[in-house]
Amino acid sequence: MEPGTSQHFNGHGPGVVLLDEGHRVLLWNDWMVRATGIDPQTALGSPIGALLGQAMDIKLDEAIDEAIACGRSSTLTARLDLGGLSAEQSKLISVQSVISGASSIDNVRRHCLIYVGMAEDTIDRQDASAAPSLIGTLAEVAQAAELYSSEKDLRAQNEWLSTLIDALPDLICFKDGNNRFLVANSSFIEFFRLGKVDYVNHDSRELGRLSSFYNQFVETWTRSDEEAWAAARSISFELTISLRDGGEKIFDIAKLPLFNQDGNRRGLVVIARDVTERKMAAARIHHLAHHDSLTGLPNRVLFQDRMRDALAQARRRGGMMALLLLDLDKFKEVNDTLGHHVGDLLLRAVAKRLGRCVRETDTVARLGGDEFAVLLTNLADADGASTVAETIIRSVAEPYGLDDNEVVCGISVGITIFPDDSQDAQSLLKNADLALYRSKNDGRGRYHFYVAEMDNEVQSRKAIERDLRHALVSDQLALYYQPLIDIQSGRTIGAEALIRWFHPQRGSIPPSLFIPVAERSELIFRLGRWVLQRACSQVREWNEAGLPQLQVSVNLSPAQFRHPDLLETIHTIVEQTGIDPRQLQLEITETIAMTNFEYSVEVLRELRKKGHTIAIDDFGTGYSSLSYLRHFPVDKLKIDRSFVVDLDLHPGNDAIVRAIVNLGHGIGAKVNVEGVETQEQLTFMRGLDCDECQGFFFSRPLPAADYVGLLAATKPWDLTGVPLAAASRRLRG
Ligand code: C2E
Ligand code: MG
Ligand code: MG
Repeated sequence: MEPGTSQHFNGHGPGVVLLDEGHRVLLWNDWMVRATGIDPQTALGSPIGALLGQAMDIKLDEAIDEAIACGRSSTLTARLDLGGLSAEQSKLISVQSVISGASSIDNVRRHCLIYVGMAEDTIDRQDASAAPSLIGTLAEVAQAAELYSSEKDLRAQNEWLSTLIDALPDLICFKDGNNRFLVANSSFIEFFRLGKVDYVNHDSRELGRLSSFYNQFVETWTRSDEEAWAAARSISFELTISLRDGGEKIFDIAKLPLFNQDGNRRGLVVIARDVTERKMAAARIHHLAHHDSLTGLPNRVLFQDRMRDALAQARRRGGMMALLLLDLDKFKEVNDTLGHHVGDLLLRAVAKRLGRCVRETDTVARLGGDEFAVLLTNLADADGASTVAETIIRSVAEPYGLDDNEVVCGISVGITIFPDDSQDAQSLLKNADLALYRSKNDGRGRYHFYVAEMDNEVQSRKAIERDLRHALVSDQLALYYQPLIDIQSGRTIGAEALIRWFHPQRGSIPPSLFIPVAERSELIFRLGRWVLQRACSQVREWNEAGLPQLQVSVNLSPAQFRHPDLLETIHTIVEQTGIDPRQLQLEITETIAMTNFEYSVEVLRELRKKGHTIAIDDFGTGYSSLSYLRHFPVDKLKIDRSFVVDLDLHPGNDAIVRAIVNLGHGIGAKVNVEGVETQEQLTFMRGLDCDECQGFFFSRPLPAADYVGLLAATKPWDLTGVPLAAASRRLRG
């Protein structure tokens, strides 16, 4: 084989150049062609100094002479202006060269090998394509061996080869056609501890008997040697070797078989590159990309991978699995009140507890924020999933000691089952989310299995949201007013403003259907502003019409109440309409008031400072703590309708109503009773010393004009049991 360019090597680096004693080029590989733009015809036979001297910032010829004279390799870093590289690479780059000098025994022939590898800092460590190709290097070495066999100077060849391969950091050895070792480089000898072993002419098995350390690799080596021979081309594989100190090394191993013209085995080149560091770095990057840095749990990406794998396996084996989506209850409050640091500690602690609730083969992941997911594989039945859900809910609910704070936090769970509910990952996630939504809505701290009806709910929610957007700009909304009556005097002292939606196709849609939908989107703010605007404008109209000063009570939804612009919005509307702030009462439910207590108190205080009054709506249905209530800036408690209906059926209710009336009066608030429908109920409430009532017994919520009509017709109401005036009765329908 004539000296020339390598046909095998097409990868990135290393560049290999072989020179004779006159520094003339004998071998000029592909990389050099591409890097310098100098073709082999020009390069071969030309002095290297003439080719590269100008481009390098070292005295190249001197360095080569030195290498040849001392007959050993030296490493030097030089800058080489590789003008032949592509435009973006043509800048100066650092190259690290190993210059190996070799002189034959008879001192006649002298050679030098330049091994040009890009210096470490110019290699993008993550770009695998930029790393020197192992097979490429191997091919170069093999080619060099071919080249020199034609000179028939075997000793010179061996000497040259050992100089060359000793200069390389890879572990390299050559074997003959019978698998007997011919040459191994110093890296190989050092790693396999063969320094004191005469390995030449022994095959792997014999070497195993000579070296106990080498012995453990004999099987793998022999098998892969045979594979390479059988394949008749280079093979490569990865091998992890455990070290005595407990560590391990990962090698990329390539084996290239060489054949004689007649097809007989001629030799085998083996080269092993230590890729431990690269692998570790890659593994670290992989871990970071697939795990949540706060909790160390798998993240969404890895969770979806695991889910795909688990699904594939469950399909093959016909198994059952469950997907649980979990969401912490009131996590935002912990973050808001105790700070993000405690929030982070809580997430970590929850992650730990979740891990203890499942088997090792199950997956717990953090999908983001306070959202977690659990994948239960190999389930015997759906009951298994509910057992885990119950354990999780119980375990998460135990108090946490975090930085001197005792934190209590619940979790809601949505469950879906493969294959019963769905076959694919996407729909399973959607199902579990719907089930979770149900759990959240049902009061948190519970679990629900997905059921098909949940899909219909979503569809109708979406339709409502779409239509409501339209309703806001197309005159389909109205405010109705339900009279509030003073129990002592029978006078109508105001009204509760209640929104009505008249859908052109679906007719009247009750607020209980669309308010919660609006609450889940930004629509609630627009809707809330519309109601406030409408109610205040109405009050102004009534004032201007000379009606007695009426108070209108407006309901605030949770999201609306927590919106930072609330105070500003109310203030602006009251200013613009010019009404007396005392004419606007605001109703919030007990649950809104108790959520984020400090914040609620602050907002309510501000509202009262401006002159507005505050009513706690649906009182008795939430979880007010009495000690909290004492500190609450509140003017009115509205006893929920559920305590009024069927008073005679539930004798306990009257005791509750009595207690609430006392409680209200105790904190200086008035007490309203909602939902009075009969004379009996009214009489009963009067007996309990309530202050105010509203209900169908007096009137349903009415359009503004009808409300005024009712005011004119009944002044004041007769509350003693005498039949009401005919005019007012007509308006009750
Ligand atoms: P709420 O604030 O407790 O309003 C009282 C509800 O009880 C009203 O239902 C009213 O029509 C009904 N009601 C009054 N008296 C009687 C009675 O004697 N018997 C019966 N069966 N019901 C009676 P509505 O108008 O359907 O409103 C339901 C809920 O929707 C309200 O409960 C309130 O939470 C919400 N809502 C209504 N309008 C608005 C609004 O403008 N903004 C916000 N954020 N929520 C509103
Ligand atoms: Mg209300
Ligand atoms: Mg109410």
